[in-house]
Amino acid sequence: MGEIIDGKKVSEELLGEIKLKVEAAEVKYGKKPALTVILVGDNPASKVYVGSKEKKALEIGFNSTVVRLSAETTAEELSAKIKELNENDSVDAILLQLPLPKGLNGDEFVGKISPEKDVDGFHPQNLGKLMTNTNPSAVACTPLGVIKLLEKYDVEVEGKNCVVVGRSNIVGKPLAQLLLNLNGTVIMAHSKTKNLPEVTRQADILISAVGRKNLITKDMVKQGAVVVDVGILKDENGKLFGDVDFENVKEVASLITPVPGGVGPMTIACLMSNTLDLFLKRQEARAGAAGAAK
Ligand code: NDP
Repeated sequence: MGEIIDGKKVSEELLGEIKLKVEAAEVKYGKKPALTVILVGDNPASKVYVGSKEKKALEIGFNSTVVRLSAETTAEELSAKIKELNENDSVDAILLQLPLPKGLNGDEFVGKISPEKDVDGFHPQNLGKLMTNTNPSAVACTPLGVIKLLEKYDVEVEGKNCVVVGRSNIVGKPLAQLLLNLNGTVIMAHSKTKNLPEVTRQADILISAVGRKNLITKDMVKQGAVVVDVGILKDENGKLFGDVDFENVKEVASLITPVPGGVGPMTIACLMSNTLDLFLKRQEARAGAAGAAK
């Protein structure tokens, strides 16, 4: 029977560490990290996500601001707002909540955020640095959360067969790249993959990021594999579940994440961790520039 990876516990530990670092930073620099989230329109799920990000940011001692723009916001207005936040010295991290309303292209506007303030790591410059393994300002929060969980449970990636099911720009692709950077042997599977069970059975580390109930069944998992379920779905009663047939797969996995309580809480903790990192990098850059000017 596989051990359950407790993402809630790991995320709470991480948030506790961040809180202490924020207190220390406040003493050292006389200020707190500042996260600004831009929410455009009235998407109900986005409103909930933004609300929980704001709450968590305030809880751990950040300055947290939500810029709420109407669904009728024009491309020019959104560009001007992002430019203003890029130039605002008191903002350390900017998150543009996606999806944007019809007519506004998310990728285009993410590309307008200053890479040094791009807390989601979605700016092309940060994605390029992830690909070349050359220190991006930030790495996408969900993939980063998965890696932190693997680290916490002493899962060695180097030399392992890693199968990532799902190839979105926000989860599958950055996650596959992180695993490759850790010297895993990575296969990416997607909706056009032929014979998915044959592919997933090769995995020492199997990660599913699709959003389809019971996509990953017991017969698709090698005995002893580590199984990470990124998928989040809701049934008609509001109960959450993931891509993996958890009850049966846990009989063959050595380690497995539940849904809820697995990857989900790590995503928000990594958003906070990225905000702190961006703040510290900006403070250090400023101290370096002041030192050089002396
Ligand atoms: P997308 O819809 O953008 O991507 C889904 C991916 O799954 C695509 O690459 C698609 O392939 C692939 N896919 C679809 N059907 C199949 C199939 N039958 N077999 C194999 N692959 C398939 O989703 P996201 O990446 O944004 O999110 C994935 C899941 O993760 C969702 O459930 C989402 O709610 C959840 N999520 C969870 C987070 C968390 O914090 N835990 C954060 C972000 C997302 P193709 O490219 O060929 O279309």
